[in-house]
Amino acid sequence: MAKSEHKGEDHSALASLSPFELKDELIKAAGGAVARPANVAMLNAGRGNPNFLATIPRHGFWQLGLFAMRESERSFAYMPEGVGGFPKRDGLEERFELFARDNAGTPGIDFLRGAVSYVRDQLGLNAGDFLYEMCEGILASNYPVPDRMLKLSEIIVGQYLRREMIGDHPFVGEFDVFAVEGGTAAMTYIFNTMRENHLIKPGDTIALGTPIFTPYIEIPRLNDYRLEVVNLEADVANGWQYSKQELDKLRDPKVKAFFLVNPSNPPSVKMNTESLAYIAEIVAERPDLILLTDDVYGTFADDFVSLFALCPKNTILVYSYSKYFGATGWRLGTIATHRHNLFDEQIAALPKEQKAELHERYESITTEPEKLKFIDRLVADSRTVALNHTAGLSTPQQVQMVLFSLFSLMDTPDAYKNALKRLIRDRKDALYREIGISFSDDDENKVDYYAILDLEFLGERAYGREFVEWIIGNTEPSELLFRLARDARVVLLPGRGFGTQHPSGRVSLANLNESDYVQIGRAIRTLLGEYVDRYNAASGKKLDRNKVL
Ligand SMILES: *Cc1c(COP(=O)(O)O)cnc(C)c1O
Repeated sequence: MAKSEHKGEDHSALASLSPFELKDELIKAAGGAVARPANVAMLNAGRGNPNFLATIPRHGFWQLGLFAMRESERSFAYMPEGVGGFPKRDGLEERFELFARDNAGTPGIDFLRGAVSYVRDQLGLNAGDFLYEMCEGILASNYPVPDRMLKLSEIIVGQYLRREMIGDHPFVGEFDVFAVEGGTAAMTYIFNTMRENHLIKPGDTIALGTPIFTPYIEIPRLNDYRLEVVNLEADVANGWQYSKQELDKLRDPKVKAFFLVNPSNPPSVKMNTESLAYIAEIVAERPDLILLTDDVYGTFADDFVSLFALCPKNTILVYSYSKYFGATGWRLGTIATHRHNLFDEQIAALPKEQKAELHERYESITTEPEKLKFIDRLVADSRTVALNHTAGLSTPQQVQMVLFSLFSLMDTPDAYKNALKRLIRDRKDALYREIGISFSDDDENKVDYYAILDLEFLGERAYGREFVEWIIGNTEPSELLFRLARDARVVLLPGRGFGTQHPSGRVSLANLNESDYVQIGRAIRTLLGEYVDRYNAASGKKLDRNKVL
């Protein structure tokens, strides 16, 4: 038998593509040259982009916009040409009350009213000041000031991060927040500022918790960084947790920083309590170890606690609103660092020449560049220092970020959160049922935003080692994904690009409907059955093609 049954893909060229680029090739294959019945739609489970979105804080945003427009027009003598002014702080709270009363029953109004009282009664902030910041922000008629983040917005977003990332875990002191254009910008800015400030330099070693969101694998390889990478491998057989042996790699003083996605992408499992505590133990012995935790999926986990809560001094916290609020187009993310942190200490301890170089780099924006905090260096570097005065996330973006945060803070007892968890877990049940994978729901660390279908693990569990060896020996990498795309118009991402050890596919459980996951499950089962038949024919064995995996 030919090694590969289908033609047309150059697998050696495809092997070097990132999973997201390969996805485009798979989509082409799923579109195919062959005419297909129009009712067979492509099922693209490749992307993490959710197909749900939070409606209530968006209604709030539009209503706030209408109120702010009234304020703008009210503050200027009427001009039919369409010229308005800035909102006025005096009496703003009362005018908002009237606006809310006039529009009672309109979606978003109750939420806004609740948000204003939450800000006043629960957070102890001045409601008029809050409304003023929101009205100015949504009208977007001023540069973002302060550039790192609007003042009350930072406090409110900080409260949200505290609730979702720290929860009841003891936490001493305060942290700063920088509002950025999604997790994407957070990563770009952090890598860049770490290098510019000599926290990492070419040739340094960093550790990655794998499998991991591909950019964390790709960025260190770029000519800009040229970092050596040590992988800490989570094991499928261990529920995708890191063994102590893997975590012990962090004890090597050569390792400057550890980059982690938690809950992980793609395994979609939060790090268990023992591992978090074990890392904290290591950090106690290695106070120089920089940690970066990307906790985009933390809000989907039960009782999530971030590494930031355990090791606040050493940790840069990255969060994005994209997934939980279905807001990828808004580009909303945050970087948080503790007020007393390792990064500021390391910068203060740099050799004289490097300090002089950084003095020069930042002297255009402050008279005391030495005192510029790491997080404010991120802000400056994000606009090539020289444009620091126009840095910052656009103010309407900050307003929507604040409304998302308030919505979540007011979401008691977790109605929205539980609805989302139910939604994605029902999809997983449907997928696994149709593929015929047995699983227990007793792993409290599972998040299920993605599912990794690990061919080797599942195949071996059901059919034994020999079958798995045969499949691996007789298929090209990504051949199964192309067969799924071409035959069933199902698009999954290859796990390999995320650094998985075994051939696998990543199914996003966020971006299609439950009935689609039924279809995907069936397509996968059909394909697997075909390979079982082929194996039986080649080996003379009689494996059951319908066996539960
Ligand atoms: C989706 C994702 C991001 C990107 O988030 P954006 O805010 O949309 O840029 C970052 N990190 C991880 C782990 C993600 O899955």
